[in-house]
Amino acid sequence: MTTVDIIVAGAGPAGLASAAALATSGFSVAVVAPRAPARAPDTRTAALFNGSLALLQNIGAWDSLAADTAALAGIRIIDDRDTLLRAPAVTFEAHELGLTAFGANVPQEALARALRDAVERLVNVQFIDAQVTAIDVEPSPSGSSQDALKSLAHVHLDTGAVLRASLLVAADGRNSTCRKAANIAAEVTNYPQIAIAAQFGHSREHRGISTEFHRPAGPCTVVPLPRRRSSLVWVERPAMARRLVAADDAAFTAALEERLHGVLGTVTAIGERRHFPLSCVKAATLAAPRVALVGEAGHTLPPIGAQGLNLGFRDVATLAELVGAARAAGCDIGGQAVLDRYVAARRTDIDVRTRAVDWLNRSLLADLLPSDLARGASLHLIGGIAALKRQVMRAGFESAGSLPHLMRPSLERVPVAIPALDARP
Ligand SMILES: Cc1cc2nc3c(=O)[nH]c(=O)nc-3n(C[C@H](O)[C@H](O)[C@H](O)COP(=O)(O)OP(=O)(O)OC[C@H]3O[C@@H](n4cnc5c(N)ncnc54)[C@H](O)[C@@H]3O)c2cc1C
Repeated sequence: MTTVDIIVAGAGPAGLASAAALATSGFSVAVVAPRAPARAPDTRTAALFNGSLALLQNIGAWDSLAADTAALAGIRIIDDRDTLLRAPAVTFEAHELGLTAFGANVPQEALARALRDAVERLVNVQFIDAQVTAIDVEPSPSGSSQDALKSLAHVHLDTGAVLRASLLVAADGRNSTCRKAANIAAEVTNYPQIAIAAQFGHSREHRGISTEFHRPAGPCTVVPLPRRRSSLVWVERPAMARRLVAADDAAFTAALEERLHGVLGTVTAIGERRHFPLSCVKAATLAAPRVALVGEAGHTLPPIGAQGLNLGFRDVATLAELVGAARAAGCDIGGQAVLDRYVAARRTDIDVRTRAVDWLNRSLLADLLPSDLARGASLHLIGGIAALKRQVMRAGFESAGSLPHLMRPSLERVPVAIPALDARP
């Protein structure tokens, strides 16, 4: 039976970033994920805020990625509903917080490659092409702290193999098998909406500004890419979304130009379109004995306000910091004390953002006077009061609570002696 310090289930961005962060701190790590089947490319990008970019830098995944990304200098919200109570457009600009950018827009295909390369450079990580099917935690016979150190997670794979580790990091996405196997309940909300994701060219400069049109069916957002290109997340009711995905390029381009009201000029070179049904998944907790959930395994949000992966990366950086601190103090790295601290550190950030995104999405869909008034009044106030606007920007684009070390720029990492992978029989 293979034993490592930490097993990571899932090789999406949250799983790969976890593996890189934990392995560069010297832990032996096994990443368990099924090899991705050949499929159409991921057309999504992720708008990542500065803390997430610092994490990518600190785990060695940024340098090969930077040229594919575009800085996010501003975020403009345009109320595009046909109503008398239409709110004024508000633009949040990074310089108002003394920053050059809030972050960068990163193509998800390039991100996956850069993270995979960063992990593959680490000698103390092994990849296992399999799926987790079940987990048991070895009971500690007497409950003493010495025995607690010996009680390991047994992780069963669909290949029949069983791995052991002090901690299982469950990064296996929104339908997380690990979450279910650890008996963690999750609240699931399916919205009557589908997001269309694509990348395209345009005749006007975006000037680093992302524009979010708030419409009754959901937001339609364009986010800068290098040169005169942008990415699109267009949320629609399912029937309309299916029609748009099936439309030919000329019809889709015409519909998009109409939707964007000319902010990017003429739309050109529309790329492949993929669609994503919208849902919200919220795990009741982020931990169970020897199991920590990160990324969409713990929380899946609709793609509004670019919160999803930024939250996931904050899980990763927080967990890596707590696990590293436990080892430095000679404590059990997957013990209850570490897991309790992890849950406490992440709770507010996740709760606040899940509620805010859900409220904003529902308020657009509801088409009710009170929600129109509330949203319109909020935008009026935010646009008119500079201090409030700065507060909203900090709340939206920065972490609630102190930033983990791995998300601070130019981290001077203390070099650690990295042991070769320990595959104890
Ligand atoms: C249209 C769209 C736009 C978005 N834009 C943004 C944005 O601008 N900014 C932002 O921050 N976020 C954004 N997001 C959210 C972001 O894409 C997700 O948060 C992120 O991709 C989730 O990563 P993850 O690693 O948690 O999960 P996933 O990427 O789903 O990875 C899950 C992994 O687990 C593996 N797996 C599954 N089951 C098992 C098992 N049983 N055993 C082992 N492995 C398993 C899978 O093969 C996969 O490797 C967007 C999402 C959408 C849909």
